[in-house]
Amino acid sequence: MPGPLTSYADFYQHSIDQPDAFWTEQAKLIDWFAPFTRVCNNDKPPFAHWFEGGKTNLCHNAVDRHLATRGDQAALIYVSSETGIEKTYSFKELHLEVQRMAASLKAMGVVQGDRVLIYMPMIAEAAFAMLACARIGAIHCVVFGGFASGSLASRIDDASPKVIVSADAGSRGGKVVAYKPLLDEAIRLSSHKPEAVLLVDRALAPMDMTPGRDLLWADLRAKYMQAQVPCEALDSTAISYTIYTSGTTGKPKGVQRDTGGYAVALAASMKHIFDGQPGETYFSTSDIGWVVGHSYIIYGPLIAGMASIMYEGLPTQGMDGQPNGGVWWSLVEKYKVTAMFSAPTAVRVLKKQDPAYLKKYDLSSLRALFLAGEPLDEPTARWISEGLNVPIIDNYWQTETGWPLITLMSGSTNGVERKTPKFGSPGVPMYGYRVKILHESTGEELTRPNEKGVVVIEGPTPPGFMQTIWKDDARFVNTYWKSVPGKMVYNTFDWGIRDEDGYYFILGRTDDVINVAGHRLGTREIEESISGHAMVAEVAVVGVADALKGQVAMAFVVPKDAAALTDASAAFKLEGEIMKRVDGDLGAVARPSRVRFVSVLPKTRSGKLLRRAIQAVCEGRDAGDLTTMDDPAALEQIRDRVKLG
Ligand code: AMP
Repeated sequence: MPGPLTSYADFYQHSIDQPDAFWTEQAKLIDWFAPFTRVCNNDKPPFAHWFEGGKTNLCHNAVDRHLATRGDQAALIYVSSETGIEKTYSFKELHLEVQRMAASLKAMGVVQGDRVLIYMPMIAEAAFAMLACARIGAIHCVVFGGFASGSLASRIDDASPKVIVSADAGSRGGKVVAYKPLLDEAIRLSSHKPEAVLLVDRALAPMDMTPGRDLLWADLRAKYMQAQVPCEALDSTAISYTIYTSGTTGKPKGVQRDTGGYAVALAASMKHIFDGQPGETYFSTSDIGWVVGHSYIIYGPLIAGMASIMYEGLPTQGMDGQPNGGVWWSLVEKYKVTAMFSAPTAVRVLKKQDPAYLKKYDLSSLRALFLAGEPLDEPTARWISEGLNVPIIDNYWQTETGWPLITLMSGSTNGVERKTPKFGSPGVPMYGYRVKILHESTGEELTRPNEKGVVVIEGPTPPGFMQTIWKDDARFVNTYWKSVPGKMVYNTFDWGIRDEDGYYFILGRTDDVINVAGHRLGTREIEESISGHAMVAEVAVVGVADALKGQVAMAFVVPKDAAALTDASAAFKLEGEIMKRVDGDLGAVARPSRVRFVSVLPKTRSGKLLRRAIQAVCEGRDAGDLTTMDDPAALEQIRDRVKLG
């Protein structure tokens, strides 16, 4: 790296002009079992292979390499306001638990390259399972615990796991959610059957064990108490995990990530963006079922030698299970959290609590609050910024990118200035990312300030970025890299503008993906579930702005027999049935907030649903030139239904 680079612009430009030198320097942040021979192989774009020839291991970097220097320090701090359990695992203890889990997986026949599907609540064993997979080179596929049997079954079929790791139940707001029956139903629905299922029994719900398939973690743990399982030396390009995310089709995409590139990307981001120091405590309020959980509950903080808090429960519930809007702040005080990561929705929930909670605890350890996953609105940002009196750092990224692509660098550990935040903007492009704004239909680059276009990334994409879609290179290329005319660029499917100072503003998705309370959902998946109801002829699901959740899903349904819905109670009943169906197929997270019945849906002459027009009407906006359709009365009907509430 040339001398100390103190300006953001110089640091960023160096990463773009001399990527090999830049990333070779960053690669020193992790341990390698064998050095890499090529920094980036981009011979066959858009497939960028990072650190070829190098051998490393994510679990070694997250756990083993800290044993000598900080073995007795906290690594994983598990806190559940659902069960009142609070337990700290030192790096040494984590090392032992991960080896017990790794030995158990091996005993079940798991070898390098096998998939292990993890369907678990936020409990420490979920972290052990992820790290154990990384340790032995198995590919973990974590499925969000809020998803139901239908979603889980399609992921089981796509991932074809040898083993599934799960638990008897999760708990949300004191309500037990039994996982085992959902899992059994998913396995019944799927064509692929796992060889074994490893179950953590939390004694929250009874479990029907399937003999010959189901095993208890407590039994295997006892058996492998003293197990020593070394970290496999894995190729840098070996697949570490897949994580499913929603797109425009009903079929979820398995975002696939490598090993070495991901480890380097996370280590670099902990230094340059999150300002994480070894021995400090990081608190991300996300869930392991999402990419934030992978990158910034499990791997990122541990790679940086930090303790990571893994929290199960609502932000408004104390350790005694009673309402308490200060529970997160009490953890910041108790564990001297220096960096906290959450989502705007969670902050909006906290904003409804007594503001005295923010004053009640000593929050002086906190240096910054990072927020991501959905647009950060100004009132929320101002409220929390005034309450905490620390920088609020918005960061924009996606499951696909693995780490933030637009945000502000931390400034404190690398000597690079932190640019002043601007409300409404996550900031500027991060090192390694060539971000552009292109015209949606011509593909022409928009260089003038404040011109709205599609946010794209020019290849080669940096380390940590998705390698491909699991088992589907063609879909990866066609979906992401061939959707802008005449250019082979990665499409984020987000609208954006760049202002005169180079700050980006993200203006929502260009596709049919919606974002409910920071959870990414495909409207097409919800539509497919609703269409399965015998009384539904046609359906359109759109995301509608919501003050608390950012967006909520709203469904417009054309019933097969309109006459059967003439009285309000029949419509109400069908609405309930449809919601229940979505709960059962996809999980409550995808349940539409409202279902409204119409006789026709607004479409173009060629039969394409006018989702953006429906959405505009639902949000009380002018549908303007979006109304070029055959039957304008269809949109009027939607307007009427929305008015009725
Ligand atoms: P996910 O893959 O679930 O992380 O969702 C990624 C999508 O969430 C992005 O494509 C954006 O639409 C949205 N998103 C994530 N972070 C931000 C942010 N800081 N500001 C605005 N939108 C965001």
